Amino acid sequence: MQRLRMTQSTHFGRIVEVVAERLKEIYGLDVTVDEKTLNVTFHSFNALRRQHNAVTIAEMLLRMKGADELLLFLIDVDIYAPGLNYCFGIALKGVAVVSTYRLDPRFYGLPYNESLYHERMIKEICHEVGHLLGLQHCSNIKCVMYFSNWIHDTDVKGYIPCERCISKLR
Ligand SMILES: [Zn+2]
Ligand SMILES: [Zn+2]
Repeated sequence: MQRLRMTQSTHFGRIVEVVAERLKEIYGLDVTVDEKTLNVTFHSFNALRRQHNAVTIAEMLLRMKGADELLLFLIDVDIYAPGLNYCFGIALKGVAVVSTYRLDPRFYGLPYNESLYHERMIKEICHEVGHLLGLQHCSNIKCVMYFSNWIHDTDVKGYIPCERCISKLR
C-alpha cells in the first residue's frame, strides 16, 4: 500500500481525518497526519504579489519527503504558480501543496459555510493527490481531475475520479 503523509500549516481540525478517509477510499492510500504543524517560510513569499510561490514551497517539501512516501502540505496562505494569478494547489515529483485560502466562502464576501468549505478542501486535495498518482487533467466537468479555473469549477466537480481516470490508475 502506498503511503501518503499529510502535514499542515495550522491545525485544520477534524476535516483532516475526513480527508484521510476519502484518500483511503478513493486511492487506497495509507494516510498519516503529522502532529506538528509546519510553517510556510518567507522564502516562498512574493511581496509584490502578496502571495506565496507554490513551486518554492514544493521544492522545500521535496527536501523533507521520505523516499517511500508521498507528501502533501495543506496551507492557509494564498499561492500562485508561474503563469497563473493564483492556484488552489500544485503537485510535482511526489509532493503536493493545497491552499485553503480561496476555498473559504468568506474570501468571496460570503458568509462562512463549513460544509461547503470542507467539501472544497476534499475536492482540491483529491485532485492534487490524483496528480501525485499520475493522473492528468480530465475534460469531464464532474471528475475530480477537471482543472478548476475558478471556484465555481470546484463546486461543480465531485471529489471522485471519473471511470476513465480510475481505469488509468490501475
Ligand atoms: Zn491539476
Ligand atoms: Zn476524469
